[in-house]
Amino acid sequence: MKGTVFCGQCGSRLLVCNAKSSTGNIYPYFVCADRHARRGNCTRQAMLIEEVERLVERHYETVQISAETRHAVGAHLHAKFDALMATESDALTDLTKERARLEDEQGKLLQAHYAGAIPLDLLKKEQDRISGGLEMIKNRIDAHHDEYATARNNLDDSLNLLEHAADIYARCDDANRRLCNQAFFTKIYIEDDDDVRVGYARPFDALTNGEVQSDALTWAETARNENEVRTPAKDGSLAESSHLVPLG
Ligand SMILES: [Zn+2]
Repeated sequence: MKGTVFCGQCGSRLLVCNAKSSTGNIYPYFVCADRHARRGNCTRQAMLIEEVERLVERHYETVQISAETRHAVGAHLHAKFDALMATESDALTDLTKERARLEDEQGKLLQAHYAGAIPLDLLKKEQDRISGGLEMIKNRIDAHHDEYATARNNLDDSLNLLEHAADIYARCDDANRRLCNQAFFTKIYIEDDDDVRVGYARPFDALTNGEVQSDALTWAETARNENEVRTPAKDGSLAESSHLVPLG
């Protein structure tokens, strides 16, 4: 918790202190760093760490998303990746053509050399130029594929975490809770009224965005409706769905 939790009133870090009761029990609690140092005029009261931990655990229930939302957001963003890749496919086609042209040139060069038309030093120079070009094209095509594959994997991993955020957090020990908090949030603010306010870390800032989620759900519903219209009933008739108007 330490390092991730902040004062909801003034934004300062929360520091850990220990209080000793008359019976000798130690109670660890959080105090606002500014208030503790008598800087500014924050009036935030000290909070038992146990209590703050409980508030954060409860907050995870509002972070977690339903299976329906998870699938809608995933499908929507994958569809956006597909569209992005499609717009770049022209560039890829050009690269592939250029690769074929260079490979062809490479073959012709060798033939010319064997026929005695090109001296060895010139052949060597031309071959270096062509393999340099081929190498560059290979790197660009690989980078294009890797970039999307990595982004798609990260997206799925993040959504899986988000779908089970509260369940995972509830089962974690302290060390793993710390990792969870660092993965999900940049800052956790504890408000005076025991409310918890968070700043999300990437990509959770986008994935937890209400607009992103509702757009995805609308998109998924539209896609589902279109599917129902296109899919005939089991007996092959379209009677049941024929009153539906295709969307888009
Ligand atoms: Zn404060």
